[in-house]
Amino acid sequence: MQTRIEVGILGATGMVGQHFIEFLQGHPWFDLTWLGASDRSAGKKYKDAMTWHLTGGAPDSVAGRTVQECKPGNAPHLVFSAMDAGVATEIERAFAEAGHVVVSNSKNHRMESDVPLLVPEINPDHLKLVAEQQRARGWKGQIVTNPNCSTIVLTMGLAPLKQFGITRVVATTMQAISGAGYPGVPSMDIMGNVVPYIGGEEEKMQQETQKILGDYRDGRVEPLAAKVSAHCNRVAVVNGHTVTVSVEFSSKPTLADVRAAFDSFTGLPQQRGLPSAPPRPVIYMEEANRPQPRKDAERENGMAAFVGRLRACPVLDYKFVAMGHNTVRGAAGAAVLNAELMKSEGMLDR
Ligand code: NAP
Repeated sequence: MQTRIEVGILGATGMVGQHFIEFLQGHPWFDLTWLGASDRSAGKKYKDAMTWHLTGGAPDSVAGRTVQECKPGNAPHLVFSAMDAGVATEIERAFAEAGHVVVSNSKNHRMESDVPLLVPEINPDHLKLVAEQQRARGWKGQIVTNPNCSTIVLTMGLAPLKQFGITRVVATTMQAISGAGYPGVPSMDIMGNVVPYIGGEEEKMQQETQKILGDYRDGRVEPLAAKVSAHCNRVAVVNGHTVTVSVEFSSKPTLADVRAAFDSFTGLPQQRGLPSAPPRPVIYMEEANRPQPRKDAERENGMAAFVGRLRACPVLDYKFVAMGHNTVRGAAGAAVLNAELMKSEGMLDR
């Protein structure tokens, strides 16, 4: 019989924290027993410390729980982090230093050279960075991160094609308003409109993609040498980030080769049957007008990336569209799958 693992959430009252709570309901391995937030919320009952923004109300299992201050010590060994980026750097470090496993959704530590930026289907070997992190920092605990919500959609679309030698990528996003948290973009700005700027997003997509698709060698990740250019736009969609992608390869695969690569792509989470792993991480849709966020983002529990419209590109080699659920596969679901992979690697054993 499997021993259940207690988990906590740093930033449990926020938008992503609520997605963590929702995603962890009924989890077969993890028991959510601890909720942390700022000192504004600490000491209050969870139901009084936040406004629930997701469908339905806050689950009974958390509504009456007292919110704690985000200080290491009384929290479980494994904590998911959904803290405001303005405070996550120091608090996540303090937890890792005190021996906690911090599985973070915040951007703060993603690009540090000894911190895994993990997508379990793409770069599970990047978890080896944790040994270097603990050695160099003298930590008993660790920090492992998941990508930005648009980067994960792009990298899941590109990962099957890495075998062809990716040299250049141009990616244009149409990003849902839920990616901006709550209340996010004012309704007057987004209704019937497109906002062609999301602060910091293009840089994150470019750099994170190179790290995620990079190769682990001798204690470090060698970033993918490809040039990546991202254009990021906010559109009037609630959930689901869409990315149109043009890509150039050093080997010259046929269209059928590229299509077969999408169809055969799988990873360790699928082989190991991890609880949150979608049966197929990348699903090619045949219909000329799919994937669409409203019709497809919620499928596969929001954990798969959907691709389609593969065709020749007159500038680079091929172009296609990718779409995924930004608050599930792009946030809480991604972190929970990371923790499941870590458990399957024995990294959560005490
Ligand atoms: P949010 O709704 O503003 O929530 C922020 C959380 O941080 C709240 O629980 C808040 O607690 C807590 N917090 C603030 N100051 C704190 C402090 N001094 N000590 C401890 N906790 C503190 O933000 P969000 O939209 O959920 O985003 C959370 C993180 O995830 C950010 O780093 C963001 O960049 C990242 N992210 C967001 C999305 C998304 O879709 N929104 C997607 C990917 C990544 P109080 O309620 O007590 O203030």
